[in-house]
Amino acid sequence: MSATVSIIIPVYNEEGGLAELFARLYPALDHLQRAYEVIFVDDGSHDRSVALLREQFARRPDVTRIVILARNAGQHMAILAGFEHSRGDYVITLDADLQNPPEEITKLVAAMDTGADYVGTVRVDRHDVMWRKAASRLMNRIRERTTQVRITDQGCMLRGYHRSVVNAINRCVEVSTFVPALGYTFASHPTEIEVAHAQRAVGQSKYSVYRLIRLNFDLMTGFSVAPLQFFSMAGTAIALLSILFVVYLAIRRLIVGPEAQGLFTLFGIAFFLIGVLLMGVGVVGEYVGRIYEQVRQRPRYTVAAVLQEDGPAEQTAALPEENGPAQAGGRGERPGSEAAPQSAPHSQRVSGVTE
Ligand code: UDP
Ligand code: MG
Repeated sequence: MSATVSIIIPVYNEEGGLAELFARLYPALDHLQRAYEVIFVDDGSHDRSVALLREQFARRPDVTRIVILARNAGQHMAILAGFEHSRGDYVITLDADLQNPPEEITKLVAAMDTGADYVGTVRVDRHDVMWRKAASRLMNRIRERTTQVRITDQGCMLRGYHRSVVNAINRCVEVSTFVPALGYTFASHPTEIEVAHAQRAVGQSKYSVYRLIRLNFDLMTGFSVAPLQFFSMAGTAIALLSILFVVYLAIRRLIVGPEAQGLFTLFGIAFFLIGVLLMGVGVVGEYVGRIYEQVRQRPRYTVAAVLQEDGPAEQTAALPEENGPAQAGGRGERPGSEAAPQSAPHSQRVSGVTE
C-alpha cells in the first residue's frame, strides 16, 4: 500500500485566495492517486477565512480537516498545530497564498517515495519583492555559517516531512521555533529539490519587517549559540587589547608625561565599546527572553475547534475566557508532554460543531 499524504496549510486572513486554492489543490491531490488529507489551520483570521474553510469542509469532509486556533499564534505555531493533528505517512506543508504551486506536491511525494525523510525545496525563480530576496540571501548565509542546518532556501515553506520526523517534532516543547530547521535536525536522509514559485495570488504578505526580524531571531537563537559565543570571544579580545592599551598609556606617561590630547579618541573608543556592550546585552536578552517564555511552559496555541469527520476527536473543554458552547472549545494541549492528545469518550461527527 502506498504511503498516505497529509497536507498542512496555515491560513491567516486569506479570504481572497482560498477559492482558487481549493480549485487547484484538490485536483492536484486527486491526481496523486493515493489516500490524502488536507489540514487547514486557521491562525486566528479576522476575515471570512474560517467561514470559507467551513464551506470547504462541508464539500469534502472525507479528506478535509480544519483546526481553528483561538487566536493568532504565528505561521510556524500553526504548522505545529497541523502536525499534531496529522495522520499521514508523508506530511507536506504549503502556503495558502498559492506562492507554492499545489501541482508541485507530486515532486515532493516522488522524492519521499525514494526514501528521503525530509524534502527541502529551492525556489528556482522566486517572485518576491527585491528587499525580501536580499534579506533572505543574507539570512541564509548567516544561518549556513552559524548553525548545523544545511538547507539552501530556508524561507520556502513547501516542504515534505516523513512521519518519523513529524513525530520527533511533536515531542518538542519549544515555544518559538522555525519548522524547516527543526525538521532538518531530526532527518536522517534529507534531500532537496527545485520547485516553482509564484507571485502572491491576492492580498499582501502577512510579514512586516518587524515580524521578519523576530522570525529570524527565532531561527538564530533556536539553532545556534554562535551569537553568544561571538560576544564572549569578542569581549575577551577587546579586554586583552585594552590591557595593552593601558600599559602603553602608563609607560607613555612615565616617559613623555600625562596626555591631554587624544581625549576624543578615547571617547570614540569608549562609545564604540559601549555600543558593542549594548549589542551584546541585547543578544543575551534574546536568549534570556526565550528561556523565560520556555520555563513558563504556556500552551503554544489554543485550539478553538477541530472539524473532522471521525477518528479521535479533541478533548472539548471550554476555554475559561471563552463563553461558546463546550463542544466547540478545545484546549491547546502542550505538545511533547507525555499525555498524547486525549481521545474524547466518543468520536464525534463534527458537522454538528458550532461556534
Ligand atoms: N500565516 C499564518 N500566520 C501568520 C502569518 C502568516 O498562518 O501569523 C500564513 C499565511 O496565511 C500564509 C503563510 O503563512 O499561508 C505564509 O505567509 P505569507 O504569504 O504572508 O508570507 P511570505 O510569503 O510573505 O513569506
Ligand atoms: Mg506568501
